[in-house]
Amino acid sequence: MLKVVRSASELIELRKSISGSVGFVPTMGALHEGHASLINLSRENNHFTILSLFVNPTQFNDPKDFEKYPQTFESDKDLAEKSGVDILFYPQYSEIYADNYRYKISENEFSKILCGAHRPGHFDGVLTVVMKLFNITKPDRAYFGEKDFQQLTLIKDMVRAFFMPVEIISGPTVRETSGLAKSSRNIRLSEQGKVKAALIYQTLMSERNIEKAKNILTQNGFQIDYLEDHGARRYVAAYLEGIRLIDNVEI
Ligand code: AMP
Repeated sequence: MLKVVRSASELIELRKSISGSVGFVPTMGALHEGHASLINLSRENNHFTILSLFVNPTQFNDPKDFEKYPQTFESDKDLAEKSGVDILFYPQYSEIYADNYRYKISENEFSKILCGAHRPGHFDGVLTVVMKLFNITKPDRAYFGEKDFQQLTLIKDMVRAFFMPVEIISGPTVRETSGLAKSSRNIRLSEQGKVKAALIYQTLMSERNIEKAKNILTQNGFQIDYLEDHGARRYVAAYLEGIRLIDNVEI
């Protein structure tokens, strides 16, 4: 039976009564198969799975983007229940930010490029909320998607940097049959937009030349934030119909 918890102190107490291993999947809701795949990984490897659903305002540099972020609590709760989540943590802002964001975690290198260069403060918000959620849920393992590869890397590095007692496990990007990476933001695309958005992945896979790849996307109506290689990966962020889409592949 799924238990919904809204209070941080209640979850901290509840956590003390759990003796088996705990897997944790942090999300911002509008759940889809990408999230479900992480829940499944957690269930396979832990006695207990906690899912959090919190649209974290501190990671949005654009207040309009925050306001428009899809909120679908009832269907998220159903998906959580059907996927076998044990606890759904659904806190309000004041539960997580009693300090009003006076304290934050920042990273000064990898968080400043790619998404960080285009969304100032984004990764400070991400790392801070993840640290807070880890302290509340005290997971043995926490699950993150490769869809957000820069985020995944920064969280792994934070855990190492602070000797945090949690194992970070990644799951592969779940895609539509067209190749489009599943994302909560896809709900906001028109039917035509959804078809076109698949060009991001198709271009990542088919065109190795960065300038040519950028041209393909621009000519098809995308506004590109970046398309760059770092390490063994190619990363892209581009707007279509005013919606920011990201993806990455191994190169
Ligand atoms: P979000 O709700 O977008 O903050 O995502 C919550 C978690 O789900 C993050 O670890 C994401 O990387 C992961 N995730 C989102 N979309 C996908 C996807 N298409 N495939 C795999 N993981 C995903």
